[in-house]
Amino acid sequence: MAMDGDTRPNDLSAFWMPFTANRQFKKEPRMFVSADRMHYRTSDGRAVLDGTAGLWCCNAGHNRPKIVEAIQKQVAELDYAPAFQMGHPKAFELATKLVDMAPEPFEHVFFTNSGSESVETALKIALAYHRAKGQGERTRLIGRERGYHGVNFGGISVGGIVTNRKMFGTLLNGVDHLPHTHLPDRNRFVRGQPEHGAELADELERIVALHGGETIAAVIVEPMAGSTGVLLPPKGYLKRLRDICTKHGILLIFDEVITGFGRLGSSFAAEHYGVMPDLITCAKGLTNGVIPMGAVLATKEIHDAFMNGPEHVIELFHGYTYSGNPIAAAAGLATLETYAEEGLFARAAGLADYWADALHSLKGLPHVVDIRNEGLIGAVELEPIEGAPTKRAFSAFLKAYDKGILVRTTGDIIAMSPPLIIEKEHIDTLVGTLADVLRQID
Ligand code: PMP
Repeated sequence: MAMDGDTRPNDLSAFWMPFTANRQFKKEPRMFVSADRMHYRTSDGRAVLDGTAGLWCCNAGHNRPKIVEAIQKQVAELDYAPAFQMGHPKAFELATKLVDMAPEPFEHVFFTNSGSESVETALKIALAYHRAKGQGERTRLIGRERGYHGVNFGGISVGGIVTNRKMFGTLLNGVDHLPHTHLPDRNRFVRGQPEHGAELADELERIVALHGGETIAAVIVEPMAGSTGVLLPPKGYLKRLRDICTKHGILLIFDEVITGFGRLGSSFAAEHYGVMPDLITCAKGLTNGVIPMGAVLATKEIHDAFMNGPEHVIELFHGYTYSGNPIAAAAGLATLETYAEEGLFARAAGLADYWADALHSLKGLPHVVDIRNEGLIGAVELEPIEGAPTKRAFSAFLKAYDKGILVRTTGDIIAMSPPLIIEKEHIDTLVGTLADVLRQID
């Protein structure tokens, strides 16, 4: 029950919360009621420093007037319009802006409403592309262990986070997984990309040898795996993956739902790592997390493969009621303008060293077994309590919240990905508070 002066609702039973320990939460609810720039405010009036940009999405921070005004203006002007056989200007403008900021080979944009939908869309485009090219036997999809590609059936099939898969029985057929790239015995407390593990990309050759390259449609990976606890690609790994895909005519999909829009200091990780996939999925930072929206970026080569039939026939039988929704598109345009006007991607790049120094200062604190970082993302891995995995990191999360910082945990890993508007003092507060928490938990 809410205490006096606490504005949270009394009845919490109806909302079945996503990815939440519902029974625990409803005994000790944590609730945000407002937010501004780097801080949330809780229902009992406390400020909480946002160390995770919401769910890795509010890259420009909260309550940004330009985005708020763009949404208000759009909703009063054109609240909804379909994008099936009809158009409205904002969706086209946003697609053009995205193409302008994306690396060169990406010339076309398909809009979705979330990261999960972007993944399903990219997988379907890959399958349909091969059919359009007369290679319909290419149906096999390759993901990676520990990969997170959202929660729909395609995404959990190519994904490799065991807990997200094992409750649900039937998944897509014809899916294989590359090994993950987490090699704690060889890469520990590394700043940025690890030295060891590029050869893990060669496992794709093993999968090709097993099934025949001509049966494989696409490989999907997060260039930097976020949700599993911030696993960076070993040096040379992505390039090797790209080369093997090219050699066998397999499409490479980068799932950039977290890494898109400045997280690593450039527009997309493809640019940051200098490796170009054939399709990029994104969402989250596209609208600063304010309105649900995702997108798939496609090269001209992919798009044009669909443009050969009679002109009046729909080229790709796929889309969502809210694809390119006007309000989301207006939010997206205002968001991209905010990133550009404030130079936020360069800002993230400029703060990366300070961020790395701060995070790595936690080395040596109780239970800390690894620290990883890149751009403005980082993870602190804790030694699991024997017989109670995830419990230690979860207690750290709860204590951190009590002390006024928001971090995210996955397994025994504490992940952080603050808004790119973060100041050095905020980094000091975030990491300093986390240090206090680590000293206090069992
Ligand atoms: N792909 C990746 C790489 C993600 O990190 C996420 C979300 N964390 C998703 C897909 C799914 O996005 P959504 O929750 O918007 O469906």
